[in-house]
Amino acid sequence: MRRGEAAVAGVILEHSELNRILAHVAGQARLWVATGEGEEAAFLPYRPGIPLRRGPGPTRRTAKEIFFPRTEALFTFHEADGKPRLEPAKVDDGPLVVFGLRPCDARALCLLDPVFEDPLWPDRLYGGRRARAILVGMACSQPSRACFCTSVGGDPAGEEGLDVILVALDDAYLARATTDRGAEWLEGLGFSPAPPEAEAAAARVAETARRALAAVPADGLKERLDGRFEHPVWDRLHERCLGCAACTYLCPTCHCFDIVDEGGPGEGVRLRNWDSCMFALFTLHASGHNPRMTGKERMRQRIMHKFNYYPERQGRPACVGCGRCVEICPVNLDLRQVIAELEGVEA
Ligand code: SF4
Ligand code: SF4
Repeated sequence: MRRGEAAVAGVILEHSELNRILAHVAGQARLWVATGEGEEAAFLPYRPGIPLRRGPGPTRRTAKEIFFPRTEALFTFHEADGKPRLEPAKVDDGPLVVFGLRPCDARALCLLDPVFEDPLWPDRLYGGRRARAILVGMACSQPSRACFCTSVGGDPAGEEGLDVILVALDDAYLARATTDRGAEWLEGLGFSPAPPEAEAAAARVAETARRALAAVPADGLKERLDGRFEHPVWDRLHERCLGCAACTYLCPTCHCFDIVDEGGPGEGVRLRNWDSCMFALFTLHASGHNPRMTGKERMRQRIMHKFNYYPERQGRPACVGCGRCVEICPVNLDLRQVIAELEGVEA
């Protein structure tokens, strides 16, 4: 069984057992847990008694940060015997478990994989973390008001990218392995097999969540955007945008970065830092020319990349409908409305 293949029969994890299980896992692996509520919700390293986040929707900060940190050293450099020396950053080793991520966040990592794991230029830091991670997801029982995952190919109980999926029932979780690695991990924890009524209850939870989701007309958006680079719709879509880039920093699929060197004569470090296509400086050339001079070009880039260029290469949009960009935007520039406006775009 590989990631995303059919699930095996579930097991039951009592709510009261959760702390014991997390402590056990933390003894064997580096463990990140979805915790906190509202704007504080994020993935944090395990500590005893850490409360597991319940919802609604996804965490404010994404699981992307674990695999593609906001800032990280690529290598250090120094001079020895009059010659420059490079010391590559150490690739993390040892098992890693991410606990409690939503299906949209796991799917977002699958969308980042082709970017960082291109066979010609594999990113050993990202790839090293991905290869050793077990992702234990938590199905969405209550989407946020901004979620629209089913409109872009996702599902509140989707399994893509996960090794194990948990569904919160009244007093327990139904846990189901979706990969061999997940099955092995679950076996090691010694849960009891789930009764048939637990599977039925989990299916009801997922169906209730699906019904609560917003529907966004994203079907066929890639084709509608083909050849619309110069369309007048771009003249108005960006008008309210402040260019703050909050939408892209919180997006689980955005992956722009910048490279900087820090240090002094004879030694230093090369860092990779998150950046954003919504900043004017991102595309400013040393010559002074900027191919994305105004907010119009930058907004067009963000939308076209997610819904036209990425689908052209990978066959699906670079958006998982998590709604974070909708919730964070200080001027209520709602991606769902942008998509709806683009529905009416004609040549
Ligand atoms: S574009 Fe918005 S809704 Fe889509 S994945 Fe990014 S943050 Fe989520
Ligand atoms: S969060 Fe809103 S205002 Fe800020 S860059 Fe994104 S769309 Fe523009």
